[in-house]
Amino acid sequence: MAAECRWAVEKLQSLRGMVDLLPQQTPLWQRIESTARRHFQRAAISEIRTPVLESTELFSRGIGEATDVVGKEMYTFMDRGDRSCTLRPEGTASVVRAAIQHGLLSQGPQRLWYSGPMFRYERPQAGRQRQFHQIGLEMLGFSDPRSDVEAIAVAWDLLADLGVEGLALELNSLGSGDDRARYRSKLVGWLTERREQLDPDSQERLQRNPLRILDSKIPATQAMLAEAPTLIEELSDESRSRFARVTDGLRLLGIPYTLNPRLVRGLDYYSHTAFEITSTQLGAQATVCGGGRYDGLVEQLGGPVTPAIGWALGLERLAILLAKAEAAPIEAAQIYVVSRGDRGELLALQVARQLRQVGYTIELDLTGAAFGKQFKRADRSGARWALVIGDDEAREGLVLMRDLRAGQAAGAEERLTVQQLLVHLSQAS
Ligand code: ATP
Ligand code: MG
Repeated sequence: MAAECRWAVEKLQSLRGMVDLLPQQTPLWQRIESTARRHFQRAAISEIRTPVLESTELFSRGIGEATDVVGKEMYTFMDRGDRSCTLRPEGTASVVRAAIQHGLLSQGPQRLWYSGPMFRYERPQAGRQRQFHQIGLEMLGFSDPRSDVEAIAVAWDLLADLGVEGLALELNSLGSGDDRARYRSKLVGWLTERREQLDPDSQERLQRNPLRILDSKIPATQAMLAEAPTLIEELSDESRSRFARVTDGLRLLGIPYTLNPRLVRGLDYYSHTAFEITSTQLGAQATVCGGGRYDGLVEQLGGPVTPAIGWALGLERLAILLAKAEAAPIEAAQIYVVSRGDRGELLALQVARQLRQVGYTIELDLTGAAFGKQFKRADRSGARWALVIGDDEAREGLVLMRDLRAGQAAGAEERLTVQQLLVHLSQAS
């Protein structure tokens, strides 16, 4: 019986592709999140939070059945009320839904950011999980090419500020709907002549979603596509000059970019600017941030015609990049509180709380072990000071403050009232 129980306990594990973030990792994530928040705030971008669970229709309409995300990667199930629900695979559709639902767009253009977990049933590998996290920006109601530049600049500056190395911005223009229609028929013609050379996935996409073939990760297909006609060649004069204003803006801001004619989005509501930010420090999963203009999406989801641009950044990939540069130690408490005896332990509880209320970080030893053992832990904790509170101190209303960096030196210990302790600490820090 006992053996059986142990076996059952050992079997409990997180689901494949769902990853725990352990205490050693969370400081880095917190730094990423607070840096992002600061950058958004400086650019007058407001946070929006939407549910992780949405009706499946939002994504089938908003992302499209023909995409990998909707076609093969969604976590979809029927709830107890027989509604088809989906764990969000990305953030844009939800943000647009919320903006329409709450009439945000009638209040003028919206600059919104979000952050949180996304779910895609993919094959897990480094930088690719089934629950992963994104931070994203959506600028709704902006058509000027300067909004493309601004959106890209916010992502670029955030990544640079975080200290990501080997960054590169790849850029393309998907042009207008007419440009893409012209290009699509040209591309389909070119690919149909070479149909046998295409991998099976791409053959299937030839009818459903031909532009997406350009995005294939199969090396043979990629090599063949090097010769394919490009969308840039099909751009109208108007689209071309719009794109020039985006690239001029990036040059003005000193943000380097390379043109990548094979960078596409497979859906019709994407138009004009498409971009990715990659890092040479990542292996196969090189893209940290992907984005572009989606002028047709708001209308597709039932809202008013609204030009828009946005991007999403993958936090796991960002964390891989930054973890290489910094080992993030768990931050030690400033003060380790050692206590013993009934009265001493109760006073310690009170003092710990009082010190936290004025902003100190306190680790309270709750073991009730002998002083010697608690002191050892205090030394190992990395704290600057130990507070020692036994029954004797409690009776006199005093605490013993020990400087853990002073070793055995004279003056390393002082007996103080709590008031004196506060003064002492404020002078010392
Ligand atoms: P990929 O081509 O790598 O699958 P994608 O085009 O599906 O990326 P987007 O939908 O544009 O990615 O999402 C933006 C970013 O989110 C990606 O650049 C990546 O950093 C991150 N991302 C996407 N899918 C995953 C995943 N399964 N695990 C971890 N991060 C992901
Ligand atoms: Mg993907």
